[in-house]
Amino acid sequence: MRQRPVFPARLDLSSGRPTLARPVPAAVGRGAHVTAGHVGVTVPHGRAQDSSAVRRNMVHKLQQQGVRDEWVLSAMRAIERHRFVDSALGGQAYEDTSLPIGLGQTISKPSVVARMAELLRQGAPGKLGRVLEIGTGCGYQAAVLSLLAAEVYSIERLRGLHDKARDNLRHLRVPNLHLLFGDGRIGYAKGAPYAAIIAAAGGDAIPQAWTDQLAVGGRLVAPVSTGAAGVGPQALMVIDKTAVGLRQTVLEAVNFVPLKSGVA
Ligand code: SAH
Repeated sequence: MRQRPVFPARLDLSSGRPTLARPVPAAVGRGAHVTAGHVGVTVPHGRAQDSSAVRRNMVHKLQQQGVRDEWVLSAMRAIERHRFVDSALGGQAYEDTSLPIGLGQTISKPSVVARMAELLRQGAPGKLGRVLEIGTGCGYQAAVLSLLAAEVYSIERLRGLHDKARDNLRHLRVPNLHLLFGDGRIGYAKGAPYAAIIAAAGGDAIPQAWTDQLAVGGRLVAPVSTGAAGVGPQALMVIDKTAVGLRQTVLEAVNFVPLKSGVA
């Protein structure tokens, strides 16, 4: 068993290698109000409670769509999706739709987050070990994953979104979530081997670094373009790493933002 890196850590800043952000700070909400991170919206307790009823309704729909994993359902019930989108879009936060999060990127639909998380867990009886997420975006899926895994490493290539995710996550106590800034195509070797790897952006192939960093017995779930040169329709791909090699399964069509190279 390899040693985990010690946090906070200072890492190599060169060559687009993922670098670790400060640990996500503890909750800031106090007293009668909880603050909604950088958006600057104050959500009174009453509304926060209303949102839990809306989330229960969202989870009920996920169950009707076939999501069965209790761990996934309870994580989706717990994480407040409205805190991860702009306040003007808050009213749509619990609809099954992707929403813009800035810099041309989108937060995935709740049904897609739940589907991928369920695939990732493979019905495990308890929490997963270490999980790598490529494409932090606004941090929503990372927050969901933080309830399903012992440790989550989440990489984002856009500095603006990496910073936004940290702000969005400020209200949660998530010491097991590590936000990294860098090109996720090279994974994050220091946290490897991973029990599971999940990508929220799709390229024309699965980077070899990801399968290299996957533990034997681990599972990778990612969108992959089925057309030439990373364009065209995408499909959800599952790769299981076994003692004798990789087993690949192509599932339904999906629609994710492109996996890009470098940082910006
Ligand atoms: N899971 C996110 C979804 C964000 S969309 C959420 O809950 O909001 C996918 C994200 O992948 C985008 O923010 C995009 O910038 C990022 N991305 C694309 N290519 C990447 C790469 N090579 N490394 C890291 N992040 C990448």
